[in-house]
Amino acid sequence: MKITAALREMWKSKGHYDLIVAGAGPAGIGAAISASRRGLRVALVESFGFAGGVGTQSLCPIYFGFGVDGKQTTAGLSEEFIRRMDDLGAATFFLYDSHEVPEYTKIGDRPLTTKVLLDGEVMKLVYNRMLAEAGVELFYYTHMAEVFTENGRISSVLLSALEGNYLIEADTFIDATGNAQLAFLADSSAVSVCSADDGMHNSMFFVVDGVKDFDHDTAKRIYKEARDAGRLPEKVWPHFGFATLLKRGMMQIAVCFDIGNGADSREMTSMELGMRENVFKVLDFLKREVPGFEDCYLTATPSKIGVRTSRSIVSACDFNADTLMSDDFYHPVALCRRIYGMHSNSTKSFSSSWTSGAGGIGAVPMETLISAKFSNLLAAGRCIGSEPRLIGTFRMMNTCMTLGEAAGLMATVAKKHGKSVSEVSYDELLPFLCENGFILKA
Ligand SMILES: Cc1cc2nc3c(=O)[nH]c(=O)nc-3n(C[C@H](O)[C@H](O)[C@H](O)COP(=O)(O)OP(=O)(O)OC[C@H]3O[C@@H](n4cnc5c(N)ncnc54)[C@H](O)[C@@H]3O)c2cc1C
Repeated sequence: MKITAALREMWKSKGHYDLIVAGAGPAGIGAAISASRRGLRVALVESFGFAGGVGTQSLCPIYFGFGVDGKQTTAGLSEEFIRRMDDLGAATFFLYDSHEVPEYTKIGDRPLTTKVLLDGEVMKLVYNRMLAEAGVELFYYTHMAEVFTENGRISSVLLSALEGNYLIEADTFIDATGNAQLAFLADSSAVSVCSADDGMHNSMFFVVDGVKDFDHDTAKRIYKEARDAGRLPEKVWPHFGFATLLKRGMMQIAVCFDIGNGADSREMTSMELGMRENVFKVLDFLKREVPGFEDCYLTATPSKIGVRTSRSIVSACDFNADTLMSDDFYHPVALCRRIYGMHSNSTKSFSSSWTSGAGGIGAVPMETLISAKFSNLLAAGRCIGSEPRLIGTFRMMNTCMTLGEAAGLMATVAKKHGKSVSEVSYDELLPFLCENGFILKA
């Protein structure tokens, strides 16, 4: 929305920043820390009272995509985060390459070539510590309610805080809201919307404790029989996959899903009502029918439904299948896996007709972070410019944090050279990526 004198009069500005980052998920954390460590004055705005985004709000404490084909593919801040979690005894690999049973031992100095299970509560603590140590100015419990533009650039955001509404201004903005909310509020033509056919379903995970000895294979068989016989709600996954032991006796149950627009409050409300009912139906089924779950009890449901796909920015160059499959990595800022199409919105199976499991490693180009509409706007995380179907390749938390870290470095380069982020060249960015330890080759 264009700012006017009357709006300026109504909402006073409380400060000018080099960089405003909207959203404290993995991407926003990466962006804020990398820019702040390089000396930028950074504001990080987050609706919730803690950082972490989907991982901490929606009960997903597994950093999934560190390794592809046995090679570590992301490092930098996301690795630093895992190492700090490990120092506190809050990180572990899984046994074998499953995502079912943890090792329950420290990672130590082993390379991060596979998924890492974390303690969700310690995640919030370590994110806070890393942000505070970097000198980021934190605005938790603060919703970014409007975005203002002036002379074709974004000039300020309206914060809805507990103490009232006010503006803050900046030279550069990074949209790390997952939903491309900043870009959308600035101008709806600055985003594209993922259709239901191209998207992934939304989930409500839940956690139970008191699970005694049980056998995954038996649980999977009984679950499938019950689902086929109609004894489970319609909107549960076709298989009992991703039932993960978080701690001894404590299990994440990931089967409840719904299809709907994750960037629409009324649809989110409707999905919330349905899935919350289904959580209790599934819990009842587990206690009644699955050996080992007889005495289990519910310990956590998410603060927010987990949304996998919604909006993306329209970027200088959207990520597409040709870019993904090319071995000639163009301006890489993060490596990703060449697998996508899981969690499809098809209710009959977990994957879709367009699912691709090509395997191997691809690269996300710098240009996918740059808004085509506003020269001082970048996106980071799952809302970078991409064909919707490809979001599955880079949406893992470590990759999102890496994309955020790259965006923070682009803001740093822009400040250093006195230019807009859209004018930053890859040659200018590359030394910063290298200094931060980015992995840019397969
Ligand atoms: C159910 C589910 C399970 C998943 N499981 C895994 C997994 O096991 N491993 C893995 O690596 N990845 C997993 N993912 C993917 C991963 O969690 C996300 O893709 C990743 O968190 C995206 O990071 P992000 O920083 O881009 O956005 P998000 O994590 O969505 O963070 C966005 C942040 O912006 C804030 N925000 C949004 N709008 C505003 C506003 N207007 N004002 C202020 N703040 C705002 C939100 O509150 C949030 O904190 C899962 C995703 C889902 C949905």
